[in-house]
Amino acid sequence: MISLIDTHIHLDAPELNGQGLDLLPGAQQCGIDGFIVPGVRVSGWAGMLALAKNTENVYLAPGLHPAYADQWTPEAESHLRELAVQPKVVAVGEVGLDSTVEPTLEKQEIVFRAQLQIALDTGLPVLLHSQKTTGRVLDILRELAIGKRIGGIWHGFSANIQVAQELVGLGFKIGVGPILLRKNARKLPDAVKSLPLSALVLETDLPDMAEKPETLVQVAEKITELRGLSLDEVARATIENARQVLGF
Ligand SMILES: [Zn+2]
Repeated sequence: MISLIDTHIHLDAPELNGQGLDLLPGAQQCGIDGFIVPGVRVSGWAGMLALAKNTENVYLAPGLHPAYADQWTPEAESHLRELAVQPKVVAVGEVGLDSTVEPTLEKQEIVFRAQLQIALDTGLPVLLHSQKTTGRVLDILRELAIGKRIGGIWHGFSANIQVAQELVGLGFKIGVGPILLRKNARKLPDAVKSLPLSALVLETDLPDMAEKPETLVQVAEKITELRGLSLDEVARATIENARQVLGF
């Protein structure tokens, strides 16, 4: 029986109408037995905590997605500081910059930096979100030595191999998700082929990128094809990588 960890799954997404946990038995039957739920909105944080509390193998990465940077307040900041030290909280996320959403990049960067500071202060790694902002996010990560000090996962990776290598060199893992399964995908398969296996972790980003948690198995199978490895080898490596960066 294989064992996989989904490092980015929004089990609390409003689209799932509170039924996210109902997806877990099917996922567990396919060998997926670890789930990291990232934060998106401030209003979702309490629900995330409740979700993980009584559910084995569900871990949390509370934080504010850049699309909701306007929700950042001093109250949100102190709330996130409290959450960061709760049991089952393994990272701060998803945090970063996104030039395709409404809040200004200036505002997003203030919120990104504040959340990086909370992660640094509590020693938690970060789940990074970046859309069309790769250079700026890399600059900030380098400036604060985030990779060396706490590490993290660049979620939903779709940039080129040079960026992937740079991130790995800085101490980050690459979140490989359903983009890998697209017929016209080029950059991500190239990166998956040439990066060290120790750099890869798996994610579905459900419900945005996948409808079923089982898509994670397809992503793992695609990696076996690209790298000539067995499913068991990919499962073992990606689990170890996830545990290493998230520390659980
Ligand atoms: Zn996400």
